[in-house]
Formats: sequence, structure tokens, C-alpha cells
Amino acid sequence: MIQRYFLALLGLLFSINGIAQISKTPLPCSDDAIMKRQLEGNPNALQELAANELFIRNFIQNLKLEGANDRSHDSSAMYIIPVVLHVFHNGDDGMISLEQAQSGLDVLNADMQGLNADWADVDPAFEDVKAPLDVQFCLASIDPEGNPTTGVNYYDDSLKMLNEGDLFAHAWDNFKYLNIYIPKYTGGEWSLFTAYAYYPSIGRVEANIDGVFYSSIRWGYGEHSDLEDGQEWASVVTHEVGHWLDLRHTFENGCSAPGDFVDDTPPTTGGTIEVEGCFNNDESCGVSTNGENYMDYNHDCKKMFTQGQVDRMTAALHLPARSNLWSEENLNATGCSSSFATIENVADNNMLSIYPNPANDFVFIELTEIPEKITIYNSIGEVIMMETNPTKLYQLNVENYAAGIYFYQVDFDDSSEKGKFIVE
Ligand SMILES: [Zn+2]
Repeated sequence: MIQRYFLALLGLLFSINGIAQISKTPLPCSDDAIMKRQLEGNPNALQELAANELFIRNFIQNLKLEGANDRSHDSSAMYIIPVVLHVFHNGDDGMISLEQAQSGLDVLNADMQGLNADWADVDPAFEDVKAPLDVQFCLASIDPEGNPTTGVNYYDDSLKMLNEGDLFAHAWDNFKYLNIYIPKYTGGEWSLFTAYAYYPSIGRVEANIDGVFYSSIRWGYGEHSDLEDGQEWASVVTHEVGHWLDLRHTFENGCSAPGDFVDDTPPTTGGTIEVEGCFNNDESCGVSTNGENYMDYNHDCKKMFTQGQVDRMTAALHLPARSNLWSEENLNATGCSSSFATIENVADNNMLSIYPNPANDFVFIELTEIPEKITIYNSIGEVIMMETNPTKLYQLNVENYAAGIYFYQVDFDDSSEKGKFIVE
């Protein structure tokens, strides 16, 4: 184990040396720059990184001993992370809608949980090592003062829209929320550079300067996104949250040990050679590459994490910089308790549709049959309205509802439907 620890430290030193070689090629994300930022203004950063590495190694070793990494898929075993999105815009420019905000998180959740459309198409060579992580990123519905919120904050600021100035000044408590900052451009102007994130650091969390930065032009799908519906680049968010959970690029340290600190990702020189197109299974470092890995730079075929990466992220969730986020107490405080966090944003199935969503004055719940009961809950699970004699087209007056996320349950004879809607 001591040998592993020194290997890990050696790897960190390699990473830090890499700072001097920041690539000039526009890329989805720059790990070197992240490491540089990570070290800035935090004198304990190196010690923290080494301590985290030791914690993660020990945690994974215990996981393997206990066989506990075979977590079941029921929601009680799921890690839930409350999220707040800070959107920086200039008038309409860069002002993404609530739907687009949610769609970025939907991509993240699907990817993390192995529910992405191309999960089934992973290269057979990596079929045995691909793995999902039971984690759900939930838009907070309670703000730090205990008030209802949509989980999306807007700031009309022409400089901060360009990621200039102190965006961290708007942070919500980093111990309670994953803060995602969404300027229009993370690099000050249009470029291929999309996003960056910070590795776990208790020092940064205490200073309230942790989080993910992401260009709104590639955040999910919608009017203010440059991406076509379903375009894979939206999965850069999954890559960034991978960093936020202490994953490195699969090409970290090239062909040299300890690579990306994960045993089952093949070593690769990766990176820039794979930005264009999908070259999965080409040779690098004498072995087949895992170009479909979220932590590669290939953005046309992002499909999977490996079991080793999932173990590492699971360990990172238990670091002091991350562990309070998913505590039951915090989920109740942020409106992300497990009974609500996994409910889909928009319900439109064969039993019902709900519109408009988001709503201002009225919400219509249209049903295929007359239900027994409709119940509306606020973000902390309190019943705020119950209708025991509803019609097939039910009109709910929300004029006096505070802006925020609400949940509904429609009970039929032998089934029930749940969903959520937003009041602006
Ligand atoms: Zn990266």
C-alpha cells in the first residue's frame, strides 16, 4: 500500500508538471488548467490532493474486500446531489430557458446511470468493464434561506456572461449544493473550449469556490444551445462532473504509470488525436483505446465509464468535500429528498399530460380517464392542494404560488402518476 501511495504522489507531480504545457488547441476541457487553478490560492492544495488519493485508494480497497461496489439500482441506494445553476446572460443573449437548464442535467443523469441511448452500443471489447454510477443530480427546490426556488438563478451581467469577474461571489453554500456556473462562454468568447471543473478539495469548499463552469451554448438542448437535439457534445457535462468526482483524463500521463489512477482504463496518448470523429479501438500505448470513455476528449462517441472509474467516483463522493451533499439531512434542506429527486420534470405519457410547464398563472392536467384524486405538494413534501372530485381536464390556479418546483400525484383506480412542474 505504501508503494501505491508513493506511486500516486508521483502521478500528482507529473500532473502538476504538465501545467507548463497547456495546449493552445481549443478543446472541450483542459485538465492542466484545472490543476493550475486548483493550486492557486490554496496553500494546502498539494497535501489535500495527496490525502484524497490515499483516501480513495483505501476506500476502493475496502469496496473490493466487501464486494460492496455491487450497489443495487433501487433509489434508496442512490446518491442524490442537489444542484444550483447560475446562468449569466446579457438580456436575452445567453438566457437559457428552464427547460434547457433541465435538459443539461437530464443528459448528465442519463449518462451517469448508463441510461444514455448508446449505452447498448459500447464496443464489445469494453462491454465487461462498462459500469453505471447510481447518482442523481437534482435541481434544488429550496434555497439556502429555506425559500422555494427553481434551482436556476439568472444574472443579467454582460461581463460575467463572458466568465469575467468573480462568478463565485454568487455561490450557494458549497457544502449543500453543487454550484454550476453557466456563462455564455467559459473562455471569454466563442471557442471550442466548453467547460472546466474543480477536483474535490475541502479547502475550496470551505472558501465557497468549488464547482463546474460550463458554456450555455453547449448546455443541453434548446433555443440558446448550439447543439442539435441529441448531439453528443452535451455529454461534456458528464466529463466535467467526472473531474468534480476526481476522475482524470484517460490519457493522463500518456503511456506511463500511474496513468489516470484507474486500473481498468487502458493507457492512451488520447486527447487531441481523438477530438475529431470516433476512433474507438484504435491502438495507443500498444493496446486498444477506450475512445468511448467520457474522460477521453472524443466528443462524438461518449458512452461509458469503467467499473474502476465508478469505484473512484463512489470513493470521491465520500470525501469530506462531497459527503455532506448527499446526506439525508441536506437532501431535506435543499428539496431533493429521495421521494422527489428522481421524479421526472415533465410528464407526458399515455395517462396524462401537464402544461404549460413552466407555468405562470394556470397549469392544466389533462387525463385520459377521470382520476380519484389529484394532490399537489410543495418542494418540502407538504400537501398544498388536494382535489377529490377532479375532471379529465383539471385546471390548477398557481397565481399565488411562489416561484419554484412543485410535485403532483394523480391517483387512478389501480395506479398513480407522479411528476413535477415549475412555477415561474
Ligand atoms: Zn477534462
